[in-house]
Amino acid sequence: MKNYEPTKRVLVTGGAGFLGSHLCERLISDGHEVVCLDNLFTGTKRNIAPLREHPRFEFIRHDVTFPLYIEVDEIYNLACPASPVHYQHDPVQTTKTSVHGAINMLGLAKRLKCKIFQASTSEVYGDPTVHPQPESYWGNVNPIGIRSCYDEGKRCAETLFFDYHRQHRLDIKVARIFNTYGPRMHPNDGRVVSNFIVQALRGEPITIYGEGQQTRSFCYVDDLIEGFVRLMGTDATCTGPINLGNPGEFTIRQLAELVIELTGAASRLEFRPLPADDPMQRKPDITLARERLGWAPSIALREGLTRTIAYFDDLLARGVGGAT
Ligand code: NAD
Ligand code: UDP
Repeated sequence: MKNYEPTKRVLVTGGAGFLGSHLCERLISDGHEVVCLDNLFTGTKRNIAPLREHPRFEFIRHDVTFPLYIEVDEIYNLACPASPVHYQHDPVQTTKTSVHGAINMLGLAKRLKCKIFQASTSEVYGDPTVHPQPESYWGNVNPIGIRSCYDEGKRCAETLFFDYHRQHRLDIKVARIFNTYGPRMHPNDGRVVSNFIVQALRGEPITIYGEGQQTRSFCYVDDLIEGFVRLMGTDATCTGPINLGNPGEFTIRQLAELVIELTGAASRLEFRPLPADDPMQRKPDITLARERLGWAPSIALREGLTRTIAYFDDLLARGVGGAT
């Protein structure tokens, strides 16, 4: 089922990243024109290489913290480093990307009177005291810690989206994304799924932070992108915020053991200190997504990991992108 009328011109910021490149691919296959904008901080041209020659695809190298003048029908705002290693590398720039980026993209949407989607995050819930997390939960976030540039940047972006909605009647779509994985994650970005798979494929120790009892809920990328498109296809009454994630909940130790099983690796577990403010538990309540979008994930962790392992296996064999 397609939620779009044919041939819209769609802007995807962060389009050369992990999620952005999958979204660009989906929009092209749905018949749209795609303008992919990215400053290539964590994204790569390799992610969008298969699309570069497509007549309905265009790439612009640009930083969302600077204004943009362009004519489009819809905007997906994904630009922002997403892994703790990358967003902590230059925390001031991370906040600017979320906040100035949101202001610039909302200003663009206001001028164009077009729908705008925001890639928000489960990090707005911080280290949650309510479990699983419904959208009505306000969160438990440290405003001055090492994760705050990301968490508070995304929270401020949500505030801006809702103020533009109330003040300027903008048609906004805010998705709160829970940990998502799949092909085209950066092999060195430090996120748990890519770390464990790359370590297992190299026969290196699997690095578990803390005792591995913290939990996450992992969503396969194809399921998530379907949720994006459905949310963008809703009428103006559906603003979100709306959780998009897979409610299956696993400890980090369980994830490590599953990766070892699926890769057949001889890796041992290596326990390292838990980083500051690392949330203890994470699991989306997706009741709202089921009701409003008719959406629920369909790809189980075992299946999604198998596909992701095949991707990294090929990447490592080819020695691509610092993956050697
Ligand atoms: P990613 O790092 O692969 O993609 C982010 C993209 O944004 C990259 O291509 C990067 O180069 C680009 N970018 C960064 N700063 C920019 C700037 N100032 N101007 C223009 N482009 C810029 O990460 P991802 O996993 O694809 O995440 C995409 C979006 O989804 C992010 O906004 C992230 O916060 C959000 N998100 C992702 C997850 C997840 O599990 N993958 C979870 C929650 C939220
Ligand atoms: N983690 C881990 N080993 C790694 C990388 C991450 O044990 O090599 C843990 C991390 O401490 C966190 C969980 O895995 O508890 C998820 O980390 P990730 O960076 O993927 O996402 P986030 O913490 O932002 O949810």
